Amino acid sequence: MSRRLEGEGHGVRFSLHIDYPAEKMERNQARMEARSRFQVADRVPVGFCLVPRYFTPLFGMKYQDFFKDAETQYYWQLQFLKYRIEHVPEDMICTGTTVSVYPYFDNVLDSEAFGAEVIWPENETLHTRPTIHSVEEMDRFEIPAPINGLWGRTIDWCQQMKGFARETRITFNSREGSVDVAPLSLGGLSPHMIAVDLAGIDFYMWQAECPERCHRFLEKITQGLIQRGRHFQEIDPRPRGAFGIAEDTAQIMSAEMFRDFCAPYANRLFAAFGKGLRDGRGVHMCGQSAHLHQALVKDMLMSSFNLFGYLVEPKTAAKNLGGRTLLWGNINPMLMQTGSKSEVKKACRECLEALAPCGGFMLGDGANVCPGTPVENLAAFTEAAEDYGVGACRRHAPTVTVERKSTFSSRTRTEIKSNPRRSS
Ligand SMILES: [Zn+2]
Repeated sequence: MSRRLEGEGHGVRFSLHIDYPAEKMERNQARMEARSRFQVADRVPVGFCLVPRYFTPLFGMKYQDFFKDAETQYYWQLQFLKYRIEHVPEDMICTGTTVSVYPYFDNVLDSEAFGAEVIWPENETLHTRPTIHSVEEMDRFEIPAPINGLWGRTIDWCQQMKGFARETRITFNSREGSVDVAPLSLGGLSPHMIAVDLAGIDFYMWQAECPERCHRFLEKITQGLIQRGRHFQEIDPRPRGAFGIAEDTAQIMSAEMFRDFCAPYANRLFAAFGKGLRDGRGVHMCGQSAHLHQALVKDMLMSSFNLFGYLVEPKTAAKNLGGRTLLWGNINPMLMQTGSKSEVKKACRECLEALAPCGGFMLGDGANVCPGTPVENLAAFTEAAEDYGVGACRRHAPTVTVERKSTFSSRTRTEIKSNPRRSS
């Protein structure tokens, strides 16, 4: 790939050739499509959470440089995609001749826009520092404008990246392709995660000491996220394929606390942005979540559990969630980084035996691929899925998914009616 390539013809500033055959794209697409219907094509699909921090060391660059400006980030995202598609066997990322890019700011995007302080280290991932240090400060919190901070930068970078995409020539073997800038994202961190980012771990204590004031704070954050989402929809009205949120701060809470401080706000967002989508109630959660599974399916009507933590035994996930929600996970990232290929393959095999028969399963990490993870350990996933094949997978969608669909719409309606305090 070259930037501002001479002699490439008029208007071509970025040029990229990806060595990947059409037949593979078609098979990937078939596996992903079957999985979304709780069915299986020739085998379970594989997908990884591979983010820029994995690639920057491979390209010998400082992590900080990735965030320099929209053009730099666009250029490197295409480089990382080329590397990923050519070297990492997986089904999720290349299902056609269009590749997708989007402004990336690790997990600090929403929290920064709400007022958390961002640390931009030279060679570490971005993280935030709390800016609310007392309950009184929490009470005084004001909802930010939907263009505040990194939200505004995301809008601006999307616009710039669309321009770069028009000036990009991309080919897959001999086929012409294109670059798509994904629609402005409506999902992200849950209100509870943002509250903990803004107030730090004191927020857990405040939940016990002054629950009503915490609820008012969560309510404001939820309103801020809905305003931002509406604004993003106005600027970029393209339909979104799915909607989901991350609930990483929930795993250390009891199911009762989770139902009180997380579910109502997540449900407001699902109702606002996930309505009518097949996968409109996606949840990500690291760590041990087994004690929350009932609440996730019954109170939040979760449609997909994405990159769920490796601490959940695959058999437990199958028992609690199998057939009721799409599942994606959950191999131990540290095993992937330091284990042998045969150990990784064995873990994949166990995961497949427990979860593939449920339908709707994608084999992946649980969660995030650590920098330095050998590509051969990533290849172990596809090998394990090929060995397992169709295995004991159901060929047809389980009836429970149809049930969930109807419960989903009726429950969402009653929820909104019966909970006016949190729906205003
Ligand atoms: Zn996580």
